Amino acid sequence: MVQFSDVPVVGQVGYIEVNTAFQNDVSPLKVDLIYGTFRSEDGSIYLLPVVKRAENMVVNDTLNHDYLSPTGIEGFSKSACRLLLGDIEKLWNDGKVFGVQSIGGTGALKIGAEFLSRHMNCTTVYYPDPSWEMHGAVFSFSGFQNKIQYRYMNRETLEIDFEGLCEDISNAPVDSVVILHACGHNPTGLDLSKEQWRTIAEIMKERKLIPFFDIAYQGMASGDIEEDTWAIRHFHSEGFEFLCAQSFSKMFTMYNERVGNLTIVQKSGHNIGSLKVHIERIVRSLYSSPSNHGAMAVFQILSNPELYDEWSSSFKAMAARMIELRKAFRKALEEEGAFRKWNHITDQKGMFILLHLTDNQVEYLRNFHHIYMVNSGRVNVTGLNFTNISYVAKAIIDTLR
Ligand code: PMP
Repeated sequence: MVQFSDVPVVGQVGYIEVNTAFQNDVSPLKVDLIYGTFRSEDGSIYLLPVVKRAENMVVNDTLNHDYLSPTGIEGFSKSACRLLLGDIEKLWNDGKVFGVQSIGGTGALKIGAEFLSRHMNCTTVYYPDPSWEMHGAVFSFSGFQNKIQYRYMNRETLEIDFEGLCEDISNAPVDSVVILHACGHNPTGLDLSKEQWRTIAEIMKERKLIPFFDIAYQGMASGDIEEDTWAIRHFHSEGFEFLCAQSFSKMFTMYNERVGNLTIVQKSGHNIGSLKVHIERIVRSLYSSPSNHGAMAVFQILSNPELYDEWSSSFKAMAARMIELRKAFRKALEEEGAFRKWNHITDQKGMFILLHLTDNQVEYLRNFHHIYMVNSGRVNVTGLNFTNISYVAKAIIDTLR
């Protein structure tokens, strides 16, 4: 008989291990640059005031806690799709655009991966090298036999390896799923130009590949919510069928409420009924139905003009703070370490800076300077503030010397 003790020994997931070490560190100097949560200047996790308002409205309006349907709150999903694609009224009514509320962005990827594996017979997924660490796991746990990383960043020049990227996806077999970070690429902060997106779309159309967008930082790359969906809208205008996993964790500073949406865009809506049933069955078997509170708060904000205006302006301020911090960090590093170029700090976009450090350097920063980041040297830019920025810059230069 099998025994639990026979289960293979595995190490902890990188992030969790680093976070545990951070929590156990008693030094007053310690700096947390680990997770992608938006921090205030004093280091605390920020909650958008408009989210708090919307949450109070949800609590007041709640009459009972009846189950939601497996696909969640329809109005929420529709608003989410609108945020992504603009005016979708007719497409929605025609069954060509369809959304399902998910448990965060991860849940949207999971539902999509299950759907592609079970009902589209997809077995191969391509995702960038490097990428957000869960992409490979989500798809292999859903039965994808081939997980292939396409070249994305040239580790010598620290730029996008566009030739490598094109070559790799040009070799992808028909019906491969290709994960594309729509904006604010995690962890590199390097986004494709519009010209490059056009080329990728051409190759993918030629090769008959299935785009699966992942958007977790909408508005945080360019500072403009609509601009950051450019790539998705371009693929849409080119007539692709595609999926998109949206995470609202960062956009609404609601990490533990697990708000996300999976959008499916198809050429013809005639099969929409069956498609919905397949998705419902997947959700039923995973967790039956989603929870209400976070998604309802997001829905309030997206559907109420007054709340929406407040949200979009405070959201702009968040994006502006990240750009400010990048500039200040680059300046501090340049002052301390002119022997190296630091332009990539302001060239990269979004919530993360990739410092391109070795594992030993990351460990040194942790052990000697009490600065915590994940192994590739990925820094949550909002973990920096005007109190610790020069300390962090000095420590990085010390580590590099
Ligand atoms: N995709 C990317 C690229 C991410 O960075 C993240 C969050 N770190 C997710 C998906 C998952 O988002 P969520 O926390 O909403 O599940």
